Amino acid sequence: MRIAVLSDIHSNLIALDAVLARLGSVDAIWQLGDVVGYGPEPDGVVARLREVGAVGVRGNHDAAAVGGSEVEWFNPDARAAIEWTRDRIASGTKAWLEALPERLVESDYTLVHGSPREPLWEYITSSPVALANLTLLPTRFGLHGHTHLPIAWAEEDGGIVAIPPVDGSTFDLAGRALLNPGSVGQPRDGIPDSSYMVIDTDRDVVTWHRVPYDIEAVQAAMQRARLPSRLVQRLSYGI
Ligand code: ZN
Repeated sequence: MRIAVLSDIHSNLIALDAVLARLGSVDAIWQLGDVVGYGPEPDGVVARLREVGAVGVRGNHDAAAVGGSEVEWFNPDARAAIEWTRDRIASGTKAWLEALPERLVESDYTLVHGSPREPLWEYITSSPVALANLTLLPTRFGLHGHTHLPIAWAEEDGGIVAIPPVDGSTFDLAGRALLNPGSVGQPRDGIPDSSYMVIDTDRDVVTWHRVPYDIEAVQAAMQRARLPSRLVQRLSYGI
């Protein structure tokens, strides 16, 4: 089975479509939250995820977009974009976002947005945090997003090794690990191309991929929507 793992799409339909076009045929699509926020097409992204039968979890932006108090913790740009999103999303989009669970277990994998112990908020950015989360994981593997940085946190000799992937990097699914596909809609590792992961359960291998998309078209749509200019600019740099 080939399973695509997408995270932090952030209302970027052009990026999502570039990823789906590159994917080809897969047996399942899992998404790790932050479907909306920041970008210009929340309804379009949710419609596309429904169309392809994606299953997954909610992120902090999704919770805020449907009225959650999470918005109180957002920086001014993120907050402005969520308020814009709240004002515009269709009722069907809102209902779909509201139905997303905070955690989802699919065979050997636990899907969360932030971390297994704090699904909406915790950033896994250090080995001690990764180890603490891996220790309480009910499955062999954890899939998470939230940082917008692709990485593998692999258990090795009781400790954790951090392995940052590049386009085409693979990781053998032995032992236990936390895996982050990076962000489809707003990459932050200095590379503007969309990032995602494919799990091959027959070969027990995960592969990371990068796909360019029409960033200028997304930026033009964001400008038309009067979304904050810092959010528009950062897409050019992948920061
Ligand atoms: Zn995000």
